[in-house]
Amino acid sequence: MNFRRSRRPLVWLLLLALVATSPWWSWPLRHIELLAGAWRYRQQPKAMVVPVEGLASTTLSSTWHAPRSGGRRHEGADLFAKKGTPVVSAVNGQVWRMGQDRLGGQVVWVLGEGRTLYYYAHLDSFADLRVGDHVKRGEVLGTVGNTGNARTTPPHLHFGMYRVGWKGLRAVDPVPPLQRRAAARPAHREGARPRLRPVTSAA
Ligand SMILES: [Zn+2]
Repeated sequence: MNFRRSRRPLVWLLLLALVATSPWWSWPLRHIELLAGAWRYRQQPKAMVVPVEGLASTTLSSTWHAPRSGGRRHEGADLFAKKGTPVVSAVNGQVWRMGQDRLGGQVVWVLGEGRTLYYYAHLDSFADLRVGDHVKRGEVLGTVGNTGNARTTPPHLHFGMYRVGWKGLRAVDPVPPLQRRAAARPAHREGARPRLRPVTSAA
């Protein structure tokens, strides 16, 4: 019996396990997964909705790079609303991550149109969604709250946008695209519009 040969698959398996679990390797692996996902959403969104129900895009003002605690700069938009107001997806996409985050509290990440990760933070509650679920523009993701480092502030949605590129994520100001691409109505309600009957004859 050739002992060396019979052991080889086991060695490869161990190496593979090491590669997959070591922090140094797992970041590139995760990034490749993200790039592959982002490729499916490479088209720019035809329209976007303000991710807090009832807020008009004309009322938004940018706080991009305003100073924050710990020398951080604000990378997103704070959309203030009453606790429990529905938070909706700004674009069509797929739930990428959901859970707890030290700064963001209860958060949802959606990988969506425009090769972008959309970040919804400080949520009070989550909608009945799983990682991998497809969400349409205007679909409810959760509700406005003040979890994470927003505990001492009035309830608001922290909304972030990160372009996915080969070198990593690049934060962009969400307010200009939200105003530029403001949609009249959310995509998930478009199906409710009365269908036009096709013209079959010129009577
Ligand atoms: Zn914020």
